[in-house]
Parts: sequence; C-alpha cells; structure tokens
Amino acid sequence: MNIKDLYLQRDKVFRYIDKQKKFRISYIQCSSVVKSAAERHNLDEIGTFFLGKVLMASSLIASMLKGEERVTIDVKSNGIFSQLYAEANKVGEVRGFVVGNKNFDVSVSSMKDFLGTGTISVSKMLYGKFEPMIGITELKNTTIEQEIVHYLQTSEQIDSALVSDIHFDSSKEDCPLVSANGLLIEMLPNSDQTEKFILETQLLTLKPLHSYSINSKNPLEDLSILLEMELEHIEDIPIDFYCRCSLDKFKSQLLTLGKEQIVEMKDSQQNELICHYCNEHYYLSNDDFSTLLEYFTVQNN
Ligand SMILES: [Zn+2]
Repeated sequence: MNIKDLYLQRDKVFRYIDKQKKFRISYIQCSSVVKSAAERHNLDEIGTFFLGKVLMASSLIASMLKGEERVTIDVKSNGIFSQLYAEANKVGEVRGFVVGNKNFDVSVSSMKDFLGTGTISVSKMLYGKFEPMIGITELKNTTIEQEIVHYLQTSEQIDSALVSDIHFDSSKEDCPLVSANGLLIEMLPNSDQTEKFILETQLLTLKPLHSYSINSKNPLEDLSILLEMELEHIEDIPIDFYCRCSLDKFKSQLLTLGKEQIVEMKDSQQNELICHYCNEHYYLSNDDFSTLLEYFTVQNN
C-alpha cells in the first residue's frame, strides 16, 4: 500500500464551514483510535462505548483549537465508572482511560443510569494563557453528548450540537467494534436562534451515524446532503491514540519522590510503572535504580 492510500485510511477529523459562515462542522471517524483504547485498557463493550465517546468528543473539540493547544474531559460520577477521562490536542493526539466503579449494580440500570450523577469538567490549555481554562458542571443524567453540549453552553457560552455513534456487531467475537463516528457543530455568531433550533431538531432526529453512507475518504458531499447545507472544506486532521509517556519521563518523576522512596521501591522489588493514560507498562532495571540513586549522591556532593 502506498503512502497516499495509508493516509486516506487513517482516522481523521474533517473540518468544514458552511458557505454562509453560520456553522463550523467537525466530523470524526476514529474506529482505530477506539479499538486501540479498548485493547490497551482491556475494555468490554460498555467501557469501549463510554471511553470511545469521550475520546471522540475531546478530539472534536480539540480540532477547533490551534497548534498544540489541548483539551481534557474529566467525568467523575457514581455510575458504572467513577472516572472517565480523555485528553486531545489539535495535532491529532488523543488518549484516555476509565476507572470502574465496583459498587455499581449493572442489573438495575439503563444506559443513561450508567453515567450516574457527578460532575463533568472540561479544561483547555490555550496559547498565551499561563493557567488552563477550567469549567465544571453537574451531570444532568442525560447522554454523554448532551452533558458536553450543556457544559459548552453554560461554561463557555458556545452553542453547539454533538452526536456520536459507536457501532458494534456482537456476532464478531474477536473484534465487535465496527465503527466510531461523531459530529460536532458549533454555531457561529452569524446564525440566529431559529436556525439553531432547526439544526438541533435535525440532529436529534438523525438515525445513528453508521446508518448513513458517508464517504470515509472525503465526506464533504455526503455531509452536505445530511445537514442540508453547502459546506467548504477547512482541513483534515489525522488522529491517533497516542500517549507521550516514556520510561525516562517516569524516572524524572520518581526523582521528585526523594531518595528514601526509591530505595524502598528497590528493596521491595517494586520495579513496575504503569501509565494510567495508556496502560503501558514500564520496568525499572537494577541499572535504572542505580542511576536514580546516583543522582542523589551527586546532589549531596
Ligand atoms: Zn502513557
């Protein structure tokens, strides 16, 4: 396969604006990203469904940022997951994880109850700002998409609409995930309340996105028909499940714990380090321990 074909097959966010400059549209296809997340974290279908949705939402929001600006979505709740976390940047890197809630009773719950009650916090690390911009809203016991739209409206005064779809085929035992797609529409100041209402109603009545035939390599035409608006292409952003962790980064962090802690780890053979964002396992060798401890000897001289 040549490089062009490989590029066409990659997961991407496709960005458009309507010709009247009233709406900005980001459409995501990211089944490889969601599959990779599910494999890394050994997730079942429910875990894949929820993590996939926040991974898609964070990538869609990040697609509207600049350069290496980042967004994180952090849901803390008493539902099936005590934490649901995703982080994405404009250059197409996205990572995330879920923390299960052992006390949750799956047998009495509907899909909406799975999310439970709690908070959703969204933070953005933007150029020119020393501190991240953070907003927190209470969960409203709706869908993850509606929770994010509600956050954008109340905390950032951005009117938007978000739909996403994770499609499984349970007959495929080894890999039931078939597709993961999402659509974020941001309403620009040019659009009026009636147009916003019509668009929201139109999105609410859509069937799941996998029911539509949307060209995976160039979705412009199909999306124009689906949304009943003329779209102009802005850019395509290839995306990957990607974590910037490394053994060296872990070792730098360990130094901040102090010498005694490192000696204790060495003596008790605690040499495994796990990145909770991507579930990568790293192992410290005896040489690594020696190098870490030498640092403190040098510091004392
Ligand atoms: Zn990692």
